[in-house]
Amino acid sequence: MTASIVYTAADLAEKGEVFRDLTFDGERCPARLAVFGDPVAHSKSPQMHNAALQVQGKDCQYVRILVRPEELEEALHNLHSARFLGVNLTIPHKQAALKFVDEIDPDAQLMGAINTVAVQEEKLIGYNTDGPGFAAAIKEKFGVELKTLRILILGGGGGAGRAIAVQCAISQCPMIFVANRTLDKAESLSAEIEQSLQVAITPMSLSPQALADTPFEVDLIINATPLGMKPDDPSPLPDSVARLLTQDHLVYDTVYSGGTTALIRQAQAAGVRHANGRSMLLHQGAISYEHWFSEEAPLETMRAALRAVMG
Ligand code: NAP
Repeated sequence: MTASIVYTAADLAEKGEVFRDLTFDGERCPARLAVFGDPVAHSKSPQMHNAALQVQGKDCQYVRILVRPEELEEALHNLHSARFLGVNLTIPHKQAALKFVDEIDPDAQLMGAINTVAVQEEKLIGYNTDGPGFAAAIKEKFGVELKTLRILILGGGGGAGRAIAVQCAISQCPMIFVANRTLDKAESLSAEIEQSLQVAITPMSLSPQALADTPFEVDLIINATPLGMKPDDPSPLPDSVARLLTQDHLVYDTVYSGGTTALIRQAQAAGVRHANGRSMLLHQGAISYEHWFSEEAPLETMRAALRAVMG
């Protein structure tokens, strides 16, 4: 099994010969999919995608490739000769890759980042599956369509926050607040979305004063900051504001690294329905798979594989 090995961008050169003779469970099984990142060793995508590839009888596997920022352009270019079907992109490549692909899905263009590349004939096509993966996660976890919800995004200035804000605007959510520590970023994102999609977004700061009345006006509160990735991180929602949560609210924390985040603890204390980012991770992966194979991903197999590696 090669899932724990980290390959390098150099392995993609020379027509990616390294990847041709790989085996999986004793059978010859070339690598034709990968995640590019720096760092990348922590990624759970290989386990999730390899389970899907196996159950669907695809004769290829998914590997991790450590790609430094200065290697990204050539690594993407080499996907053709290495006979890859596509890749996922993680930190720090999601924005930089926009300029190295041939076509960009219009929603991904607006999200300002791609996390999926599909190799189609001579072209590289870029997609963002974080936004649609988030919408699918909300449907699955709370049984409601994103388009029916009034939204507060905490941390709209980052990559995940931007993808979620654009997805909410595409879904025509009736009200969208984007709160960010650096107010300028929320303001420019809101202006950009309003101009492109003619959907009104209210930018605001992440301060208790600015947020004081917002919970009364929203249904779904989302953490799109990295707060919660470390066990002792504070919540992005000030306690004075968390006290305003009622049982009608929904809380979604995009953090999926395990453990209970401070935001989820606030939701639990208020008796609010809540979910962590694992469902978004699952659905963004399933949608990537569908871009590569143009067929439905085996969602339950991928879910079980994620559960097995993440506990
Ligand atoms: P990022 O681009 O680095 O996001 C930075 C955002 O977080 C900015 O809005 C930033 O505000 C804010 N922020 C950072 N530290 C903060 C702090 N101490 N207090 C308040 N705000 C803070 O990161 P990202 O890639 O978007 O990831 C954000 C989160 O989404 C991570 O937890 C990641 O695991 C999660 N994520 C989950 C999935 C999934 O599938 N579940 C997918 C992608 C990302 P400023 O603008 O003021 O700096």
